[in-house]
Amino acid sequence: MTMNSHPLGAAYFSMEIALEAGLPTFAGGLGILAGDTLRSAADMGLPMAGVTLLHRKGYFEQHLDAHGNQSETPSVWTPEQVLQPLEARSFLVLEGQKISIRAWQYTIRGCSGHSVPVYLLDTALPENPSFIQTITDQLYGGDEHYRLCQEAVLGIGGIAMLRQLGHHHLMTYHMNEGHPALLTLALLEEHVAGRSPAEASAQDLAFVRKKCVFTTHTPVPAGHDQFSSDVVRRVLGNDRTTALERAGCLGGKVLNMTDLGLRCSHYINGVAMQHGEVSRGMFPEYSIRAITNGVHAGTWASPPFQELYDRHIPEWRRDNLYFRYAIGIPLKEIQDAHAQTKSALIGEVARATGVQLDANVLTVGFARRATAYKRADLLFSDLERLRSIARNVGPFQIIYGGKAHPQDEQGKEQIRHVFAAMAALKNAVRSVYVENYDMRWASLLTSGSDLWLNTPERPHEASGTSGMKAALNGVPSFSVPDGWWLEGHVEGATGWDIGREEIPETSADEIASLYHKLEKIIVPMFYGRPAAYAEVMRLAIALNGSFFNTQRMLSQYISDAYFEGKKAMPVEHVVNESRRSGAA
Ligand SMILES: *Cc1c(COP(=O)(O)O)cnc(C)c1O
Repeated sequence: MTMNSHPLGAAYFSMEIALEAGLPTFAGGLGILAGDTLRSAADMGLPMAGVTLLHRKGYFEQHLDAHGNQSETPSVWTPEQVLQPLEARSFLVLEGQKISIRAWQYTIRGCSGHSVPVYLLDTALPENPSFIQTITDQLYGGDEHYRLCQEAVLGIGGIAMLRQLGHHHLMTYHMNEGHPALLTLALLEEHVAGRSPAEASAQDLAFVRKKCVFTTHTPVPAGHDQFSSDVVRRVLGNDRTTALERAGCLGGKVLNMTDLGLRCSHYINGVAMQHGEVSRGMFPEYSIRAITNGVHAGTWASPPFQELYDRHIPEWRRDNLYFRYAIGIPLKEIQDAHAQTKSALIGEVARATGVQLDANVLTVGFARRATAYKRADLLFSDLERLRSIARNVGPFQIIYGGKAHPQDEQGKEQIRHVFAAMAALKNAVRSVYVENYDMRWASLLTSGSDLWLNTPERPHEASGTSGMKAALNGVPSFSVPDGWWLEGHVEGATGWDIGREEIPETSADEIASLYHKLEKIIVPMFYGRPAAYAEVMRLAIALNGSFFNTQRMLSQYISDAYFEGKKAMPVEHVVNESRRSGAA
């Protein structure tokens, strides 16, 4: 297998990875980030691989009835059609029995031909007990026990699989959130070879720490994955449980996966500057840095904008810094490209919902996971005010999308709220909620809207990435100053803030600011000064597209995290090595 013969520098572990539109191997932003990271790694010629689970039944397909009641069906897919089954088998002892794991390979090809493999672990093998066969089926499904089994397969089984595939000496293991944190235990076991991990010394732990990088994504303690010690002992057995206890990871009789990741990593980061600060507040005993998220430009620039960039800044795929020079693209060409993306969006909305939107009307887009802190219904706080703006200042139309986790009742309630508000606005503001928000809809919506709305409850948005996709397509953000927008926002230049930067601020202040800016600034500019609006679009690309991309993000990971303390090994060495073997 020549494809696995090149030395790997880093393995990127993530419970979800968005590989391509149509494959349900992810649930939301975390998986999109993972996929975008690996796509940039392929573009940059880096010797990386991704490790995740197969998720044979995916996350779920969303169905919405006329009142916005969500129901779900499994998103069954056919891995055989897109993935390559690998012969290798790795093994793991779960609940005292030895289970086998196989991997499927998805290959990401970068813009210069380098490829990055993603290994999707699968336990649906006839030799496994029937319950075990189901544990790589469903993303974020099942109970605590099911999830711990999944996370053991991902972390411990994943390390074993890398070894089976011939990847022995990696420089870095990068954990994207806490789910894969059991990989640290696997590395510890390997390092103490022969001895019980329960007898590992501080030096053994230090060895593991040197190899691990942990990215935390959640700004609230409740968001962290936890397992009770009974379940841990039952699933992982005495030795491993004792090892976790001795490493201080079973305090309070729970295994907190974030805690495990933090304890066993030499580099820890939050996903935007503010999130770094919030995380330091939550975990004051650790040194936590911040590397702001990005998106993969080649994936999220829509076809009309790709063509525009190919004409004006042909280097953009290879080097995203060239987006800075979008400042020289004529406004008319940006407007023309946007007219195409908007028309594509309107066409797809009509096809999917039967609702015909107007290409000449200001289109406000909002799509993200439906969950309480995202406050999808904030825009609809005062329907009379919205009607009045539409009647007296200028018309606008609204497109929404987003799934609620099957157990998130508040998220489901928000969708119903939005439906009710849309129905009440019916004759004044045309609006529509598209079903089954996925990569394809994300792409259509972030490129085809005229304004990208985001109204999270601060400081819950660790980063957010959909606004970055919008920026790459010249779509300004209109957002609460939270997450990445605190860094990407230049008032009236890259978009607009909702509310002020000081915390605390009441939601009434935010609502007032939202309506005020819509009424006095955005709607008047859109209709009255289209060249000024196009200038905001252009600045969104030049200032934000050039920075909020995964290529910049990954360069930071490489220099700040992967190579930290290993400065003797220059990046070029690893890159050249992979190029050589990639070419062979
Ligand atoms: C980009 C994306 C997300 C994440 O968007 P946020 O702005 O971070 O909420 C979620 N789901 C899909 C399908 C996406 O493409």
